[in-house]
Amino acid sequence: MNFPEMKKRETTGGKFLKLVSKAPPVKGVIQGDPYLFESHYLGQGQRSQECTGEGCLNCGKVGRPSEKFRVNFLMTENGVYVSKIFEGNYKSYNDLRAMLDAGLDLSATVLQLSKSGEGKQTVVSIIPLGQLNEKQLEQIRQVSLHPLNSTTRTTTPDDSVPF
Ligand SMILES: [Zn+2]
Repeated sequence: MNFPEMKKRETTGGKFLKLVSKAPPVKGVIQGDPYLFESHYLGQGQRSQECTGEGCLNCGKVGRPSEKFRVNFLMTENGVYVSKIFEGNYKSYNDLRAMLDAGLDLSATVLQLSKSGEGKQTVVSIIPLGQLNEKQLEQIRQVSLHPLNSTTRTTTPDDSVPF
């Protein structure tokens, strides 16, 4: 009898940043402009679905979508910078906007992200830690960024989505 090895679909380590409650915070730097969209929360463990606007089936089924955004978040993995897609909610978006308004250069600021709670109770806190030096900035500018539109979402539920 031969049971060949099953191919297991990769569920972590994908291009989406996965934040885990009570895990050590994640540090990185935002690059590029955010992509704004609206998304339907379909329940814990379910993949959220982007609202298609006019004629959206989920709008009829589960009600209003919530505002979300995606942005490229560069962090070090094994000593090199890699880009992950951070998907955040309205609160995170406004936290980042407040930092911009306060004069922070977000493209050169190390941010610390941590998550608490699960599902709709998820809260992501974002804390600015300090500025990158010239050498780090140079490395970061060489990393290619992910496209952020809806076609990029190929990962499994809860892979990154904070709710
Ligand atoms: Zn909708």
